[in-house]
Amino acid sequence: MEEKEYLPSIAMSIQAHPDDQEFTIAGTLARWIQHGCQVISVIVTSGDAGSNEPSRGVGYKPVLAHLREDEQIAANLVLGIQETAFLHYPDGELQATLALRKDLTRLIRQYKPDLVITGDPSRLFHGSDYINHPDHRAAAEAAVYATFPSAGTRLIFTDLLDEGYEPHNVRKLYLHGAEKPDVWIDTSATLDLKIAALKKHASQLGDWDPSHMIREWAAETGQEHGLSFAESFKVMTLVEDKPEN
Ligand SMILES: [Zn+2]
Repeated sequence: MEEKEYLPSIAMSIQAHPDDQEFTIAGTLARWIQHGCQVISVIVTSGDAGSNEPSRGVGYKPVLAHLREDEQIAANLVLGIQETAFLHYPDGELQATLALRKDLTRLIRQYKPDLVITGDPSRLFHGSDYINHPDHRAAAEAAVYATFPSAGTRLIFTDLLDEGYEPHNVRKLYLHGAEKPDVWIDTSATLDLKIAALKKHASQLGDWDPSHMIREWAAETGQEHGLSFAESFKVMTLVEDKPEN
């Protein structure tokens, strides 16, 4: 029997760069939002290394960061996300430090999401033509360990307690880009929104229209599970679901 679909009340998306969320999980977020979920979008770097234009020097980095933050906010509004947090770590040089883990722990304790959604930090290679960006792995690792054990454990990062952030237990952790996913989310009704949101990242897309590729990915993923279009995840259940009444 098919398990009942989990629909979070508050979900926190934690991603390394502006546009990561739109390439990977935006169809799922839009679906949850349509079911009444509040989504908080956390972007660890502002993508300030996202240009190889030879005329651009180091002085362009803060300009690009600002531009990409605006693009992310516009993409989030397309999806129905009102709250975006930028942590301003350096793009391309991210590490899964304790400082980052603490920043994410603070946000989890502040917003109290029942679900955190991020990348799979264990994924080094995708197929035979893409090395997973180190920032993706770093952000995901910090997010996973902020979710557990830091968010829920009183005596980790005790200065957060002093700041008034009480422990919070996240119920579920969703990881995208997993080698062996175990949950498929039907994105047939939200695929167009995902593409529209992705197109807000104009500085990264240039003249390229990503619609075809995104549809193809979603169709391939859906095919694994009898759906027209889907996104897939490895899911960790950290707090057991309440039994049905
Ligand atoms: Zn990225």
